[in-house]
Amino acid sequence: MADTALMTIPGIVDPVPAARDITPRADGRIDLIGLPRPRIRELFAAAGLDEKAAKLRAKQVFHWLYHRGVTDFEAMTDIAKSMRPWLAERFVIGRPEIVEAQHSVDGTRKWLLRTADGHDYEMVFIPDETRGTLCVSSQVGCTLNCTFCHTGTMKLVRNLTPGEIVGQVMLARDALSEWPKSASASPREGGDLVQQGAPPTEASAFAGAYAADDDDDDFEYTADGRLLTNIVMMGMGEPLYNFDHVRDALTLVMDGDGLALSKRRITLSTSGVIPMMERCGEEIGVNLAVSLHGVRKEVRDELVPLNKKYGIEDLLQACADYPGASNARRITFEYVMIKGKNDSDDDARELVRLLRQYNLPAKVNLIPFNPWPGAGYECSAPDRIRSFSEIVFQGGFSAPVRTPRGRDIDAACGQLKTAAEKKSRAQIDREAAAAAEA
Ligand code: SAH
Ligand code: SF4
Repeated sequence: MADTALMTIPGIVDPVPAARDITPRADGRIDLIGLPRPRIRELFAAAGLDEKAAKLRAKQVFHWLYHRGVTDFEAMTDIAKSMRPWLAERFVIGRPEIVEAQHSVDGTRKWLLRTADGHDYEMVFIPDETRGTLCVSSQVGCTLNCTFCHTGTMKLVRNLTPGEIVGQVMLARDALSEWPKSASASPREGGDLVQQGAPPTEASAFAGAYAADDDDDDFEYTADGRLLTNIVMMGMGEPLYNFDHVRDALTLVMDGDGLALSKRRITLSTSGVIPMMERCGEEIGVNLAVSLHGVRKEVRDELVPLNKKYGIEDLLQACADYPGASNARRITFEYVMIKGKNDSDDDARELVRLLRQYNLPAKVNLIPFNPWPGAGYECSAPDRIRSFSEIVFQGGFSAPVRTPRGRDIDAACGQLKTAAEKKSRAQIDREAAAAAEA
């Protein structure tokens, strides 16, 4: 059971380069996106506003950034006209750069994005009748080497920053035109009307520049009719290997005064980083999905090599202990269906046995394996998948088969990959064998 706990992570493990909190810009301005509200307040105070003003402005600016989605300080109509250039001289409102946007025949959309320091990563939007799901990346590449996953063949370049993670959600809202339509300016808006007297110094001028309340919500914006309703941390990377940044980004996504997405509509998927799972439940509180993919040690060791460090039993126990898991909030077990590898009726029965043994409030998502060039696996046949699903269902767990989406643009699960290559375990073994023979 715990006998594998002391092993190091197998495969090629690159050190995780620490991502910068704020990308320094040549012009010295600071990107506000990704910063917690208290940090915005600190920066405003450091730039010269008195404490009270800094607090108020931070609240107003935060609302404009995350609730209204503006990318220009000039659009912040309840901020005094004279203050907008002051903000623009010191701060920017960033978005990830879009390198390419693709549209699948099934409506799925994929964006290739670039960080300010030139690394590419991807995000995917998957609409269906009842919801619109954004699949968000947490890292450029991945340190883990799951053998069926295209991202696993990439080198980890670096962790994404909170701004780059929440920036994906902002960009999706931009692309879907989902920011609340501008409220008509109320008489107290347009800052100058409420500015008191001449602006003697920046700090004091801005302290008195606003009406006390910034309640400009005179429009409706509810979940109804939204295109983007759900977020899954299932893009590139292992989110629990970038825990702090993912937590900070999701905190912004959930902030009621901003993007305001409920934690119930956010799912974080992990390949099974047990030591971070409890903190994930406690500090983020989102739904958990676990990439199980195998119910026997040899098979899961191959498919998800992290299994050699954190084995199946310990993983299931950590799931049973996941804070907030209940029958109303079940844990999702992802199970990729690979021909002849993990798809037998016996495997299905073993899966049911394990889920019962740990008394897990569970549902199982069966994902037909999505092929990619050079993958050594094939997808299970449809009636094999049906039989597997039926056994799990009869065992008392919902086991829907996920329809692959966006395969034509390589946007489906496990197909995401940008340029950073890493050698596969098999390739390294082959090279080592060849070198030994020579
Ligand atoms: N690193 C995290 C989240 C990203 S992967 C994790 O592994 O959970 C998102 C999901 O896609 C995981 O369940 C992953 O196992 C699955 N996946 C990866 N490659 C796949 C492929 N080729 N076909 C189908 N699903 C795949
Ligand atoms: Fe990384 Fe997840 Fe792909 Fe495994 S399945 S290589 S953890 S992204």
